[in-house]
Amino acid sequence: MDPIFSLIERTPAFAVLSSDIGGGRLGHAYLFAGDEVSAEAIMLLGAARALCPEGGCQKCATCRRILAGIHPDVLSFPEGGKYTAEGMEALIAEIYRRPTEGEKKFLLLKGADSMNLTCQNKFLKTLEEPPGDCHLFLGAAREDALLPTVRSRVRRLEIPPFSAEQLLPFARAVCRPEEAELFAALGQGSPSEVRKLAEGRGRELFELALTLLNRCRKVEDAAYFSGELAARKEDFLPLCDILSLLLSDALKEHCGAEGQIKGLTAEQNRWKKQFSNAALAEIIRVIKDCRKRLTYNAGFAYTADALLFALVRGRS
Ligand SMILES: [Zn+2]
Repeated sequence: MDPIFSLIERTPAFAVLSSDIGGGRLGHAYLFAGDEVSAEAIMLLGAARALCPEGGCQKCATCRRILAGIHPDVLSFPEGGKYTAEGMEALIAEIYRRPTEGEKKFLLLKGADSMNLTCQNKFLKTLEEPPGDCHLFLGAAREDALLPTVRSRVRRLEIPPFSAEQLLPFARAVCRPEEAELFAALGQGSPSEVRKLAEGRGRELFELALTLLNRCRKVEDAAYFSGELAARKEDFLPLCDILSLLLSDALKEHCGAEGQIKGLTAEQNRWKKQFSNAALAEIIRVIKDCRKRLTYNAGFAYTADALLFALVRGRS
């Protein structure tokens, strides 16, 4: 089974949805508040729970078609990746069309928080009086982007962030083996974040972190990297996360324990021998300090330099 489904199946949100379905209390509209990947998974699992003759076995033909997104009574929106006025007309028409195979149909509105106000208003009418056989599932990471009138007409179920440990099986499915633990730890509890990291940005930041550890040796290097970091301010905090993980791994390895990030090449690990334990601990402390400074709105250049100079000092 796809690890995202086994992760979502164990959430309180799914337990509530499942008990609504099992108890014959399935409402006509739900809002799943959570990251995109989780929201999509719970919508598919909910539809499978309701339409599968076995109550969502995830093995039968019905479940398989639903989870693969090809069941005619479980339709995903928006088509083309974006909610538009014409798209909303089609969506509303679909709400009033009878189910093809059974008694119920499900419309899954992914990223409902990306609907503009015109689209939300168009949609609102159908939320007031939807036909009995159609159930609307909305997914939203940013609930405040939804009109209060939309929010008041849906049953809200929240999918809170997961722990790194819970995310690991999902990370293993979407990341390269050597990156799974790293990205599970860096994903801030969100499967969508883990996927984003796996799709590129994470790898790039990981390379940058290793470059800093291997190459920021002299004051001139620090000055050079200072410019690099200033050009990508939004990456600074995730970069700090990666650096902290790598540095504490080096500390652990120096003490004979196993680090979290495995599978690095000798070249990628070269810096580890160049820092003493005291230096590693000091850089980790400086990174914590940088993070605190940024939350208090300290100047970016000043903060980034503190980190770079800590790397230079750590070697001497
Ligand atoms: Zn089934």
